[in-house]
This record gives sequence, structure tokens and C-alpha cells, in this order.
Amino acid sequence: MSKQSVSIPLHEISRLAIVVTNCRKTMSQVKTETGADYILNGGMWNPDGSPCVGLKADGRLLSKTPWGNVHGYGWTGTDIHMTLDWRGCATYLAVSPIIKDGIKYPQKTYDKAQDGVRGRSAIGLTKDALVLYCSGDKTADESSPEELTRELLALGCNSAMMLDGGGSSQCNFAGKQIKSARKVHNWICVWTKKTAETPPDKEEKPVSKPIVCLDPGHGPGCVNGSPDGTYKECDFTWDMYTRLRPLLEAQGITVVGTREKESDYPSLSARASVSNRAGADLFVSLHSNAAGSSARGFVAFTSAPPETAARNKLAAAIINRIHAAGVVLWGSGLAHELYTVLASTTAPAVLLEYGFHTNAQDLALLKDAAYRDKLAQATCAGICDYLGLEVKEPDQESGQPNEPDGWAKEAWSKAVAAGIFDGTRPRDGLTRQEAAVVLDRLGLLK
Ligand SMILES: [Zn+2]
Repeated sequence: MSKQSVSIPLHEISRLAIVVTNCRKTMSQVKTETGADYILNGGMWNPDGSPCVGLKADGRLLSKTPWGNVHGYGWTGTDIHMTLDWRGCATYLAVSPIIKDGIKYPQKTYDKAQDGVRGRSAIGLTKDALVLYCSGDKTADESSPEELTRELLALGCNSAMMLDGGGSSQCNFAGKQIKSARKVHNWICVWTKKTAETPPDKEEKPVSKPIVCLDPGHGPGCVNGSPDGTYKECDFTWDMYTRLRPLLEAQGITVVGTREKESDYPSLSARASVSNRAGADLFVSLHSNAAGSSARGFVAFTSAPPETAARNKLAAAIINRIHAAGVVLWGSGLAHELYTVLASTTAPAVLLEYGFHTNAQDLALLKDAAYRDKLAQATCAGICDYLGLEVKEPDQESGQPNEPDGWAKEAWSKAVAAGIFDGTRPRDGLTRQEAAVVLDRLGLLK
């Protein structure tokens, strides 16, 4: 067999890398040294040994830039996606895209040297799997770029990119090999999760409390604020933190703050470290936004697509609740930017901009205490949705869940049925006068 293709479910991938060997190692050496489950020859290189068209590995750009306006594949972790944004990814490879958005790429992205019938290597993505393809040079399975495109579309690829071909084409897909003696410049390597590493389903999660790291953005002395000087972003972020924190705790969530007190002003990397050390399940940074006077609305930032990544599921859960609460969204409500706190946290991370303090309408809302409560409640509900926790609706006055803890449920319903309590505010403290009324209702007073 001189042709191999595999479709690896994205959720089974534990690591995805471009291993750069600068034409000094054979595929079998790479296999021995990396232990990768799937290896495929990668991008092209110039006569002087420098990679082309575009290559970034382990956060370092190795090729020249720019390389024209063609898409490549980028990722940070395992969130591989077709993109032009090589800056936003730790790893990036651009060669010759041939499929995008489920159809043939709109422009021809290869020249005569890559055209014709020859061995082919390609990488693609279906809705939920990574596709790797290789056919041997000078075999019956050689093909033209057009034939390759048709084949990859038939494999269900929504996007695909032709890699270096001809004598470079070679692969080892979990032992199924197409061999070539050529030592290519770089290799696409994929490691899959071994059975023992497969993450447990949500139902099998340990019963320990989820940990949320909350980051009240900025700190004292930060100049961010409204043009008229009546609003400071750092006051807002701290106030939102003090509102959101108890709401989360009331839902049984452990909250870790990146600032212990309002006067703290840690660095961005220190904030990420707090989250990482705590082993947080998710990280939420609280902010308000600035732009010209016309931009307004809520937007959640994450480091990068795709929407299937945990960080974007978290963002979507919060955006849905914020939108349902009647808050105006800026654009779709989701945007991507590789902010330090989003790039350096190991937990799924979002940065929430609750509105533009440079817009008069947003500013009036951001200053309003009831609006802040609404934002805090919607954020809390979104976090609970993401964590798979049933949201306990808070009492309007106290902001606490309007139902007792499990251990108190039976006694509480008896007390309500007996007319001792009216069924509201189960978590409130009891004042002396309320205690007197309770005793009287029990018939204990003369
Ligand atoms: Zn900010």
C-alpha cells in the first residue's frame, strides 16, 4: 500500500507538534526520539535550509515574514485551526491550503514545482478529527493537487493544506509507513491519549468542589477610566469581584482571588501563577473596556479559537447568560486576543469586558449598583452552566440562593409547612425579634 490516510478524533490527541530537525534526521530517528504515534513530513524549505512558506514552532517564528495572504494551520495546545493569525498561535505551519470552509481554496497556492502528478502529503480537519494523508512518490498512488483536493473533500475535510510532496512524502501512522530516504526539514508529530489518560466523563468527576480563580483587573493607581474622570476601572473590577465572589461560593464553588485586598496590584504573570498554583478549573478576569465614544457592550476575550476549546465553551456559557439578562453585546460578544493572563494560565481562561467606560450609555450602567448585581449574577450562572452545576436562583434581596442546603431541606420544609417561617431567605441570620416571633409561633411563650 503506497497510500495512507488517518482520521484522528481531536479529543484523543494529547499533543500536537512540529518537530524541526533541519534536514538532519530520518523519520525513524524522529520516531525513536519523540515516541510520536503519528509522524508526517511537514513544510518546505529553501536551498539555504531556511523553512518556507511559514513556520513557527514552540512560539518561535523560524521562517521569514510575511509570506503572502494564504492560510496555514495554527495551534497552541491542541486547538488546531486554519487561520491567517500566526501571531496568535504558538505553532504555525503554512504551505499550500487547498480546502477552506468545506470548498476548494479560492486561489491557487502552489507553483509549477509542486504541480503535476507526484507523491502527496497533506493535513486537514473535519468537524471533529485531524486528517493526515500521505502517498508515496513514484507509485500508483501519486496524484495531482486537484485529485488530492477531491480525495480530502471525500474524507470530510472542511479545511486542508498540501504539505511538501514528491520525494519528501513519507509517514508513519501508528506503524503504517510510507518510506523515503529523504531527511526533511520538519515533521508533524501527533501523540494520542493512552487509555489510562482518557479524562473521566463529567459524571465521573470527583466530588471535590470546583475551583474558580477570579482576577479583579488592574489595581490602585491605574489610570484607566471614563473621560470625565467620574469612573475608575480598578474601582469597578474590585467591586465586581466582591459581588461575584460570594455568589460563586453560595453555589458550592471554591473561589481563589488573584488579589487579596484592594490595595494589591500584582503583575499579570503573578495573577496567572495564582491560578496555576491553585489548580483552578477556570480563570475569569474582570474588566471594563475603552475605545472611541461609540463602541459599547459586553465582550468576552479568550486566547484563540476554535469554539470547541474549553475556554470558548466557558466564554459562550457566560455570554449566553449575560445576553439573556438583557445586556448589550459588542459584536458577537466573543473576541480573541493573546492577553498575558489568558496565555499564561493553564485553566480555561476568559477576560470579561463588561462594557465600555468610554461610552456614555455604558458608563451610566457600569456605575449602577443594580446593574453590577445583574452582571455578577449572570456571570455566576454562566460559570455554573459551564461547570455543569445546577444554578440555584438567588433571592432578590440577599443575593443568596433561595433554597436551603441539602442537610437542612427536610427541616426547612417542615418549618414552612408549620408556618414558623414564610419560605423565603433560608440562609439569613435570625435577629432577636425574629427569634421571639419563632418562639411565639411554636407556642412556647405565655
Ligand atoms: Zn482592563
